[in-house]
Amino acid sequence: MHPQPAGTNADTSDPDTAAALLREAELVLIDLDGCLAFGEAPAPSAAAFLRMVEDRFVVLSNNSTDTPESLSDRLGRAGLTVEPRRIMLAGALMVDELAATHGDGTVALFAAPQLKEYARASGVTLVEAAASTDTVAVARDLSLTFEDLNTMLRLLHGGANLIVSNPDLTHPGNNRVPVVETGALLALLEACLPGLHPRIVGKPDPLMFLRALQRFGATPARSVMVGDNPATDGLGARCAGMPAILVGPNGSYAGVGDLVR
Ligand SMILES: [Mg+2]
Repeated sequence: MHPQPAGTNADTSDPDTAAALLREAELVLIDLDGCLAFGEAPAPSAAAFLRMVEDRFVVLSNNSTDTPESLSDRLGRAGLTVEPRRIMLAGALMVDELAATHGDGTVALFAAPQLKEYARASGVTLVEAAASTDTVAVARDLSLTFEDLNTMLRLLHGGANLIVSNPDLTHPGNNRVPVVETGALLALLEACLPGLHPRIVGKPDPLMFLRALQRFGATPARSVMVGDNPATDGLGARCAGMPAILVGPNGSYAGVGDLVR
């Protein structure tokens, strides 16, 4: 007989409860920035944490710059071995959603080159500098220009739908200094064009959680999310029906090292 599921009401600030959840979970969903890594540097004990949850984890990140493959390579160079199928990212998931739902429509995708390549390979019809398009899709693009922002505004003003990879305003970068995230671009667009109704793909929307559970055949009640952001990791886990263990300045534990037994 299975032990009773801890559910979303489990007191994960209690170290014994957190340890039991991590020990018994079918799937441990672990956030990237602020949990496993800070910028390009792995977090202290990140490798030990991944060894502890070995073949029962998936990295669940609102990262919208990488593809699972490019992030797997990047983590490998930082000394963390994570195969691409154990990585779910908001940017790539947005592209998957566009590929699944978009049919014959066109998309103006503002994203990093590797995500655009992933979109083309997934069969999404991208338009560059279009006069009009059905959909404006926004992810984190480090080469985004003022002209790009004006193009977004023009297309949205013309009636295009807006889909955004994730709502985060910032994420912790190198030396834990915050860097601008996709949600800040959304805030800018909403300030310029009040009344937008964006679809936001990443956490806290439960979609990415549910896709991860499906991929590994796990159930929410017997899974657990480890994250550093109550508004995305915590709320998203609750919406998906699983408990969350929070680390970092807004959490019950300083870092994932405190969870390694
Ligand atoms: Mg985070």
